Amino acid sequence: MRIDKLLANRGFGSRKEVKGLFKSGAVQIDGVTVKDPSKHVKVETQTVTVHGEVVEYKEFIYLMLNKPQGVISATEDHLHNTVIGLLEMEDAVYNPFPVGRLDKDTEGLLLLTNDGQLAHQLLSPKKHVPKTYFAFIDGEVTKEDVDAFRSGVTLDDGYETMPAKLEIISSGLRSEIQVTIEEGKFHQVKRMFEAVQKRVIYLKRIKMGPLPLDETLELGEYRELTEDEVHLLK
Ligand code: URA
Repeated sequence: MRIDKLLANRGFGSRKEVKGLFKSGAVQIDGVTVKDPSKHVKVETQTVTVHGEVVEYKEFIYLMLNKPQGVISATEDHLHNTVIGLLEMEDAVYNPFPVGRLDKDTEGLLLLTNDGQLAHQLLSPKKHVPKTYFAFIDGEVTKEDVDAFRSGVTLDDGYETMPAKLEIISSGLRSEIQVTIEEGKFHQVKRMFEAVQKRVIYLKRIKMGPLPLDETLELGEYRELTEDEVHLLK
C-alpha cells in the first residue's frame, strides 16, 4: 500500500501533516529514509518507522466493550454520545462500528469491528447466533413465562418469536433472570417480557455467540479480542 495512506490510516494526522513527516525525514522503511509519500510499502514484510517508532499495521480491529447506559450503539449521532466516543484515538482510526445494537439504557457486551464480513455473519438472522442477557424484571417471573418463551411469544407488532431460553435466577417483587435469544428484533427482550405482561427494569448482555463478557472490564472500558477469541467467532 502507499506509505502516506498507511500513516493517515494509523492516525498520523491530516494529509498535510503526513506530508510534513516525509519532508522532515522522519519516515523510514527498513531503516532507509523515505521522502516520497507515494512510495509503496509491503506491510507484511517491511518495517515502517516514524521518528524511530515502529508503525504497526493491521487491517482489522476487534474490540469488546462493556457498554454503559447513556450511550448509543452508533458511529455518529447529533444528540447523544456514541460508543465510538469511548474509544482511544489509536483504535478509533480503524473506523470500527458496533456489531448490532444495544438500547441506550442497556449495558454489557458490545463488539466493535471494521470487519464487515464478520459483523454480517454475527448479525445474519440465518446464523442464529445466540445472545444471552441478564435482567431484573418488575414482578414475579413464573414457570409459565419460561414455557411461553420456549414456545415463542407474540410481540406487539404480531411477530412470533423463535424459541428462547428463559432461566429464573430468583423470583419475587423484582426477579432476576437470564434469557438467550437467537434473533435480534428491535427491543426484543423488553418486548418479549411485555408480551407476558412484565417489564424489564435493567438489561445487560453477558454473552454473544461463544464469547462471554469479560467481567474485568468496568462499564465504559474495552479491550481488543485475543486471536483465539476472534477465531471462536469466525
Ligand atoms: N433486547 C432489548 O430489549 N434491548 C437490548 O438492548 C437488547 C435486546
